[in-house]
Amino acid sequence: MDKTTTVKALVNFKDMPYERPDLEKIEKDFHAVLGKFKEAQSFEEQIEAIDEVQNIARSYMTMESLCSVRHTIDTRDEFYDKEQSYFDEIGPAFTKMTSEFGVEMLKSKFRPELEKEFGKHIFDLTELKLKIFSPEIIEDLQEENKLVSKYSKLIASAQIDFQGEKKTLSQLTPLTQDKDREVRKSAAKAYWSFFAENEAELDKIYDDLVKLRTKIAKKLGYKNFVQLGYDRMNRTEYNAEMVANYRKQLYEQVVPIAQKLKARQAKRLKLDKVYYYDTALKYLTGNAVPQGEPEWIIEQAKKMYSELSPETDEFFSMMTKYGLMDLLSTPGKRAGGYCTGFPDYKVPFIFANFNKTQHDVEVMTHEAGHAFQVYQSRNARLLEYVWPTLEACEIHSMSMELLTWPWMELFFKDQTSKFKFTHLSGTLEFLPYGATVDEFQHWVYENPEATPAERKAKWHEIEMKYNPSIDYEDNDYLKRGGFWMKQGHIFQVPFYYIDYTLAQVCALQFWVKANNDRKVAWEDYLRLCRAGGSRPFLELLKLANIKNPFEDGCIESITPECEKFLDSIEDEKL
Ligand SMILES: [Zn+2]
Repeated sequence: MDKTTTVKALVNFKDMPYERPDLEKIEKDFHAVLGKFKEAQSFEEQIEAIDEVQNIARSYMTMESLCSVRHTIDTRDEFYDKEQSYFDEIGPAFTKMTSEFGVEMLKSKFRPELEKEFGKHIFDLTELKLKIFSPEIIEDLQEENKLVSKYSKLIASAQIDFQGEKKTLSQLTPLTQDKDREVRKSAAKAYWSFFAENEAELDKIYDDLVKLRTKIAKKLGYKNFVQLGYDRMNRTEYNAEMVANYRKQLYEQVVPIAQKLKARQAKRLKLDKVYYYDTALKYLTGNAVPQGEPEWIIEQAKKMYSELSPETDEFFSMMTKYGLMDLLSTPGKRAGGYCTGFPDYKVPFIFANFNKTQHDVEVMTHEAGHAFQVYQSRNARLLEYVWPTLEACEIHSMSMELLTWPWMELFFKDQTSKFKFTHLSGTLEFLPYGATVDEFQHWVYENPEATPAERKAKWHEIEMKYNPSIDYEDNDYLKRGGFWMKQGHIFQVPFYYIDYTLAQVCALQFWVKANNDRKVAWEDYLRLCRAGGSRPFLELLKLANIKNPFEDGCIESITPECEKFLDSIEDEKL
């Protein structure tokens, strides 16, 4: 029984009613509860007010999420297109209300009792939320949003001539994996020519962003944007120095392994060297593919989750029964994959676009990992405690990808070794790239007056450090250091990237643990998922018996097992 929250009876996703939230009514209700909280004479009365605010937020977020899921499933639908614009418009007003509540919570005379009930984490999060905002920067934030959308629009607008057809950047991507070297080479050239042609505009957008973010940081009293970037990411326990030491470990321990993998790829492809246009092709025989249609993949997943654990069985049956997954590519659907949730019903939702590649299985298990966690922590009394911070979120998803390995035969049959080899080597090769993106951004925001040409030169220097065998042949744009301009995070959410590598290092620890003892690994994983976002990253790791990646020796503890597996595969025969 749940007395604290208003939970709606679960119905199929298709039948969940949508109603546009009435902002005026929400504001009225909200201020009534805020008054109640401020005037409360006891800790119990304040808790009641918190529950009421949570209920207001829960129903608002359910509608917002229903709208956004239906909008992304069919972007041509005019009704949800309009509703989406409505949410974009009222979003800031809603955020403002929750901040007002945060201010009062921090000031509460019953704070010790509240901390005892909810833990310290919610107060740390609230403090950061207030620290990174001031009415003085509202216009700057609007300007920042505009610049970010300018970048997204420019990238989405790409119409590149390729063999007599117009292609978007994502339509060109599969062609860069073509078995015919001439095809993949011209596809890669076409892909990068878009960035070279728009170089001046991309430089201008980024330069404006860097200067604007620096200005915001100074207005808020920071030395430069670096710490503000960390605070925006809710990093309450680690700083830039710790991250630098972590990158050093990646450099020392993982770069040599990744370079060895590059050499193996060249050997498999029978090339002297993997040039920039060869990197996406992993085997001369082509990459692994699921051995059936999308509906068949979902059937296999049902079997897999029923065998994996009673918890995943219950979870996945619920997801299929209530239509909480939309995985096929259909007309009008937005690209990509994601997981979200409907708090009123306490259920998650998974969105993907299957395209008959190995990625279909990866994206499904990845998003199912997020969804499984949200489902396990659905009864958290605070919405803020359902999802953790972003580096912790990716542990659930990336670990699920690896914990489902024993069932990969179901999907890939005789191509299973090929799948596993690509999956694990991709994971390891990603780590140095993640460090590159991170090191670059630290330099950029520590040197905000650098010119665009100096930034590119710096990028090239850092990418050569983490991936010395890179070869851009005669591509002038890439040689000057333009690669990062395709990495949306750098423009959109500064410093959001090292998170993926931190989570990957934790996921690999789960993989090693499961190879030794699946039962223990699953128990630790389940405990982590159930804790949701009730604690910060490093505390969650302790709870899950996972080593802290910032500490020396952590990466060393996983690499031997990875290398052992990779060495056991005769990849040239795949
Ligand atoms: Zn994810």
